[in-house]
This record gives sequence, structure tokens and C-alpha cells, in this order.
Amino acid sequence: MTLLELSGVTASYGPVQVLDGVELSVPEGGSVGILGANGAGKTTTLRAISGTVRTGGRIRFEGRDIRGFRPDRVAALGIAHVPEGRGTLGQLSVRENLMVGAYLRKDRRSIPADIEYCLDLFPQLQDRVASRAASLSGGEQQMLAVARAFMAKPKLLLLDEASLGLAPSTSKTVYEAIRRLRLDSGIAMLVVEQNANLAFSLVDTATVLETGRNVLTGSSDELRGMDEIRRAYLGG
Ligand code: ATP
Repeated sequence: MTLLELSGVTASYGPVQVLDGVELSVPEGGSVGILGANGAGKTTTLRAISGTVRTGGRIRFEGRDIRGFRPDRVAALGIAHVPEGRGTLGQLSVRENLMVGAYLRKDRRSIPADIEYCLDLFPQLQDRVASRAASLSGGEQQMLAVARAFMAKPKLLLLDEASLGLAPSTSKTVYEAIRRLRLDSGIAMLVVEQNANLAFSLVDTATVLETGRNVLTGSSDELRGMDEIRRAYLGG
């Protein structure tokens, strides 16, 4: 079944139109990538879904039109957004950040076990649970951002450039953990990534955006084999 469906989605910043009819579909439990150059509209597509930018067109989640919903309402429906730049709460500790992630949950009793799961998924955070988020390294902050989103027990995770500013080995560690999270939890994912190789390690299908439009959509295997993808996004 389709979990999320975008059709003809448009968005502008002032007079500048940056999304020009984006089409996208994420199946339940599926993982879909959005690739594209700087400024193609990848981040704006995620913002359109989470309600932080005004949009036209149609955005359906579990069959319901959610376009125009406020961000808190979108979150309450089960969509968690890990924004570019992470967005952890720097003055709060790692544990407090995880608790904040869980604040809308009704099943309070399973929260401690989920915190343990996060610390098992990201062992680097284990010794830092009492540290302020602002004191973590970039990689640790990214791990915390993902873990905090997981603590909301979402149906869909929107993940924006989790590799941004990280060393290649750290990016790989982060993506491997997210992959395991996906396998363990079955949470559907919509993944924006500049590094196509990392994206292909996590997603089943992907779409390529260019100036706010889809120019190519296919399975990870299909796209990985295409010359134009190789040239543009795989450095080959
Ligand atoms: P990047 O990887 O650089 O974030 P992107 O594909 O995610 O690229 P967007 O961030 O969605 O692209 O930006 C699409 C276009 O909108 C770009 O031309 C960008 O400069 C512009 N833009 C983004 N945010 C704003 C804003 N708040 N105000 C005005 N223009 C914006």
C-alpha cells in the first residue's frame, strides 16, 4: 500500500518557484531516495511534506490529504523530519533530546527500552548520554538526530543529507545504522542525499530532481547502472 504520495507539488520562495510539479510515492515500509544537484529542490520537497513551506498540488499520507497541515499536526500523524543541519537541542543532554523526541507518544512504558535500542544502534552515544548535545561531534549529533526522530515511533522518516559535513567513514557508519534501523523497525523512509552511493545503500528506488522537476525515477540498481547518474552523482 502507498503510504505517501505527492502529485504535482509546487512551491515558491517569494517570486522564485523551486518545485514545479514533483511526483513521488513511498510505499508502506519502503525506502525512497531523492537525488539531485544543489538547489534542485530536494530539501524543499521534504519541507513541503512536513508543512514548513507553503505548497500547491497534492500530498497524501495514508490516503488523506495533508497539504497545508501545520508541522505539529504532520508530526502527530507519524511523520518525523531529520532536517539538514540536524536540529538537535544543544543545551539539552543526549538523553533529554531522546525524551523530547518521544513526547507525543502514548506508550510511555516502552520509552526506556527504545532509548536502550538507540544506544545499541549508535554505541558512540553510550558514553555521552549525560552530555549536552552541543558538545557532541558532527557525526554524533547526526546519530542523535536520527535517534531522536526514531523515538517518536514514526511511520515515515524524512531524512535530509545525513552525510553533510561528515567524514566518509562517519557517513558510512551513520548510513549502516539507519539501514539496520529500517530493517529492525520497518519505518518507511524518504531520503535526500547528495552522495548517491550512500543513498543507494539505503533506498529501494529513487527519483532525480532537476530545477524542481523529476527527470528520472527508477530502482537503485537501474539508476546505479546509468551513465548519466554515474557522471553526475557517482564521480565516474
Ligand atoms: P541543497 O542540497 O543545496 O540544499 P536542494 O536540492 O535541497 O539543494 P533546496 O534547498 O530545496 O534545494 O532549494 C531549492 C532552491 O530554493 C535553491 O535555488 C535555493 O537557493 C532556494 N531556496 C531554498 N531555501 C530558500 C529560502 N528560505 N528563501 C529563498 N530561496 C530559498
